[in-house]
Amino acid sequence: MKEARSILKQVYGYDTFRKGQEEIIGGIVDGHDTLAILPTGGGKSICYQLPALLLPGTTLVISPLISLMKDQVDSLRRLGVSAAFLNSSLGAAEYREVLRGAMQGDYKLLYVAPERLDSAMFQSLSEQLQIPLIAIDEAHCVSQWGHDFRPSYRQLAGWIARMANRPLVAAFTATATPEVAEDIEAMLRLREPRRFVTGFARPNLSLSVVTGVDKKRFLAKFLQERPEQSGIIYAATRKETEEVCAILRASGIEADKYHGGLGDAERAEAQESFRFDRSRVMVATNAFGMGIDKPNVRFVLHWQMPGDLESYYQEAGRAGRDGEESDCILLFEPADMQVQRFLIEQGSGDTERKSVQLSKLNLMMNYSRTQRCLQQFIVDYFGESDVERCGKCSSCLDKSEAVDRTEEAKMALSCVGRMKGRFGVTMAAKVLKGSRDKRLLEFGLDRLTTYGLMSRLPEKEIADWLYWLVAEGYMRLSEGQYPTVSLTANALPVLEGKQTITQRVRASVRQSGGGSSSAQSTPLFEALKQWRREAAAREGVPPFMIFFDATLKDISDAQPRELDELLSLKGIGAAKGDKYGADILRIVAEFAGEDNGAGGAAKLVPAKPRTASRAGADGDTPSHLVSLAMFNEGMTTGEIAKERGFSQVTVEGHIIRGAGEGNEVDWDRIVPPGQEPLILAAIEKVGAEKLRPIKDELPPEVAYFAIHGVLCKHGIGQ
Ligand code: ADP
Repeated sequence: MKEARSILKQVYGYDTFRKGQEEIIGGIVDGHDTLAILPTGGGKSICYQLPALLLPGTTLVISPLISLMKDQVDSLRRLGVSAAFLNSSLGAAEYREVLRGAMQGDYKLLYVAPERLDSAMFQSLSEQLQIPLIAIDEAHCVSQWGHDFRPSYRQLAGWIARMANRPLVAAFTATATPEVAEDIEAMLRLREPRRFVTGFARPNLSLSVVTGVDKKRFLAKFLQERPEQSGIIYAATRKETEEVCAILRASGIEADKYHGGLGDAERAEAQESFRFDRSRVMVATNAFGMGIDKPNVRFVLHWQMPGDLESYYQEAGRAGRDGEESDCILLFEPADMQVQRFLIEQGSGDTERKSVQLSKLNLMMNYSRTQRCLQQFIVDYFGESDVERCGKCSSCLDKSEAVDRTEEAKMALSCVGRMKGRFGVTMAAKVLKGSRDKRLLEFGLDRLTTYGLMSRLPEKEIADWLYWLVAEGYMRLSEGQYPTVSLTANALPVLEGKQTITQRVRASVRQSGGGSSSAQSTPLFEALKQWRREAAAREGVPPFMIFFDATLKDISDAQPRELDELLSLKGIGAAKGDKYGADILRIVAEFAGEDNGAGGAAKLVPAKPRTASRAGADGDTPSHLVSLAMFNEGMTTGEIAKERGFSQVTVEGHIIRGAGEGNEVDWDRIVPPGQEPLILAAIEKVGAEKLRPIKDELPPEVAYFAIHGVLCKHGIGQ
């Protein structure tokens, strides 16, 4: 396994394996069929990619998700590994080309969609290629008991069995109850498989249930506390998705929306914009998510309670795939129960299915109001019982005092008791409020002794209180489209004064930044992100494919000066070091105020003027003056960056440095007219020690370049 560890470092830039990875890889390399169940973000890909690199020949990877396949192949190529995919997104010519390469054994990994395979194709691949291993991703798709059954997966076992030299087979999934795991092994006809279950807990997720808050105000504050973070907001309906997205946009947050009512193109565009970090927040219905591998989703916020815990955990689990601290917040109102019930009643499916859904809904409800550790509650549901309290979910952190609500409970229960199970929650709330509703008066409900008992509270709050009592089991709702509410046996001791009722109101979520390394920002980190954005745009890939946020943060913390130092950081393997190392070291040096021949943005000390000349690109003229000369010839910083193979940030640094040394420059091109007084005012307000606070004071269109420019022009600062 020493070899595996050295590849882990060399190729991926990681020092240690995650839980289970080493055993799984070792097992495969030693020749065992394998079923591995790892949570989302647990690092399944490496478990088959690494054996593929260690074993001779081409490993086939069967995966149902076309968009993920492309990402995986792009990522592998970036790491210097030869890989390709065959699926329906390829044109005929491309397809033939890849197939030809595959037959020649050009690839270490070949990803194939199961729909693309047939018996003949499998046969010819296996005859012409050395295939040591077949990795089957999302293996739960083979099981009818899994939540995403795909008939095409059923054919795989037969084809594999007919191969002349049956390769090893390794199956991977994130979600499998013990029954589904059995079924996968049987359906894929695994031979004496080793089964690894690393657990369902996600230690980097902080789960919270928040109730009794004004959602819009909560959201505004929540996002304000996380100015840099990217996240998903799940809403139950299209209408709400639209509304939440509009609110965010109105307050200046880059948000996109995604739901079934939008056209294909619009949805694809929203998804790309989110993946490429062009927008910060995705507001979506549950239509959004399958195949989302964006690693830096820092939060997933549910605007309402979803219908079951599997869906909730799957959606919430899209946070923190990169292993960084992330938040999953469920905004819960007791009335959500009603919405979900309605959706189930209205939905398709027979009575049996509906009753299963209703019991799942009850469980979801229990999650939403449990005082147990939320992580424990979830893993328990998936059949894992020996997990410790997470210590950071809203239950574990709950310090709220339990409030005695016995009096309000008695009012509500006696009112509902008097209504004799003939009306719904809404009407009961109207009675308690003392409403002049027409139907209420027609039924003579204003004559009940409980009429108007809670008139000081808003009607919605009374309804929520009633739903809370339902959730706590003191009342029950009938089934059907218009459920009525009635008392359960639990209500009696309360009404008789033998039992008190207490309620905890939780409304706090962990503050952002508690240990989350990506939460704090520095000018160097911002500069690295800017460079990454440019590099990603040039290469047409999402920024995370170049480096994760965590890697950039590590770079900005460690400020490496040498390539070796850079390579010692997590997430930077040899190929990326070769490709991007020089750029990164240059940016770091600039921010450290050091001159490694490329200039220094943060070093604005005027020196003896030297003439800017373009001629000496490879001669005596220092690099920054070459850039300045090109700028003075009318080229934009972007054009210069492209021509010289530097990042735009570097070029901007060159120009500022050159100008700071007293060389001639057209300041208006650095600081657009009108911005200078704004920037000066901002500097006056927050000082000139750090750029970030200055930037935050200013409208978004004011660039760092302009701020640097003003500092330099006025000889202010570092
Ligand atoms: P999943 O199990 O959800 O398929 P991935 O294979 O996509 O997870 O891995 C999730 C993320 O974790 C990836 O970005 C991957 O690069 C990273 N990762 C995997 N293994 C390690 C490791 N040993 N050390 C650090 N990061 C890792």
